[in-house]
Amino acid sequence: MQKKNPLVEVKNVRHFYNKGSGSDFLVLDHINLTLYEDEIVCLLGRSGSGKSTLLRVISGLIKPTEGTVTSPDKEVDWVKNNVAMVFQNFALFPWLTVQENVEVGLESLSIKSNEMQSRAIKAIDLIGLDGYENANPRELSGGMQQRVGLARALVVKPQLLLMDEPFSALDVLTEEILRADLLDLWIEGQLNTKCIFMVTHNIEEAMLMADRIILFGSNPGKITGEITINLAHPRNRLAPDFRAMLDNIYAKMTEKDEVSAKNSGLFSGMGMGMVLPYISTNILQGFMETLETNYQGKADLPKLSEILGNNNGEVLQIAEVLHLLRLCEIDDGDVSITPKGKLFALGAIDERKKIFRDHLVTYLPIVTRIHAVLDERKDHSAPISRFLSELGDYMPTLDANETMKAVISWARFAELFAVDESQDKFYLE
Ligand code: ADP
Ligand code: MG
Repeated sequence: MQKKNPLVEVKNVRHFYNKGSGSDFLVLDHINLTLYEDEIVCLLGRSGSGKSTLLRVISGLIKPTEGTVTSPDKEVDWVKNNVAMVFQNFALFPWLTVQENVEVGLESLSIKSNEMQSRAIKAIDLIGLDGYENANPRELSGGMQQRVGLARALVVKPQLLLMDEPFSALDVLTEEILRADLLDLWIEGQLNTKCIFMVTHNIEEAMLMADRIILFGSNPGKITGEITINLAHPRNRLAPDFRAMLDNIYAKMTEKDEVSAKNSGLFSGMGMGMVLPYISTNILQGFMETLETNYQGKADLPKLSEILGNNNGEVLQIAEVLHLLRLCEIDDGDVSITPKGKLFALGAIDERKKIFRDHLVTYLPIVTRIHAVLDERKDHSAPISRFLSELGDYMPTLDANETMKAVISWARFAELFAVDESQDKFYLE
């Protein structure tokens, strides 16, 4: 094999965040990683493991507490000046047109305004938005908005293109189309970029795109493995070699010590710092029923995701929530039902609610806390915003909002406490 040229080297990076309580929280530990020219690398890890933080470190948006990000044999500021980032939430300016949003990408490079315009128009064309130059982002679908986000990154002709879960806010079909378009442009060499580094929690997405997958573990975020994918594009997700590799990755990602990681386990942070994904109780119940009745309580995760028609990486998240609630256990790519989980799956709705209630209070520290506060107060009520701001001491606002949304919907189902969102109130009935 031809020797590859290194493009960016991450050396001994460690990073701490300041926790509300004053103590520092280690989010990245001893990250060593080299990105080479002509490759797509996917960093695959759970929500909250530190993927976005690592991406921000590489892009220069945050300076790591320890370690360096450099490009071999290039000037000191090379990395800062040669990377562009695509964000999960598009991050467009609503008051600017599509073209103006793309031109924003060029503002830091001192170039003339007519060149700026022609480069923006080219990038808009390339990404398939010809004719929408003067549209307002609000008029566009999510998929088109993300195309604008991509154009804004590509317009600078970055040597390294960083993408932070760029498709995860899109519906499955849109995601599929956008990913295929992007891959086509990459293969045809039209992207003007030497390397794509993308983070995702979606195993299948990583398998569809990457030449190399870096597995990322949590608590603290660290590299736990690497897998080379030699399959030609476009990849067929039903091909036996694709399925075999997928199984292997599921197994690696759910190895015992990773899943039952110390303290609060699966999710990042400890206790109150756990970021919870919002998953509806209908989906959780459906998953439990399928597992118990169709699989006698034990199944292979990749197979389940195929059968549930959920190839979105969500199956692992669902299983993780159920694992956290001790209704299931994940180990080595398999998910199996616990004795309480079996009672839940076979139980009538009242029985289910009761089990769910007990497990929420016992296993989710944020729920334990809300419940204790309500219990202690004379009027048995407290503002939701108070707990939201407590969560905000441990995690970014977006994560705190999602975590609270999950807590509210699960507590409603369990009839654990009542929620009046318009009055900003939790109360015990
Ligand atoms: P991922 O992208 O893998 O979901 P992140 O890098 O966003 O993970 O976050 C990793 C951990 O660091 C999470 O526990 C998150 O709550 C925490 N975190 C992220 N950003 C901040 C911040 N600015 N301040 C404090 N904690 C943060
Ligand atoms: Mg992230």
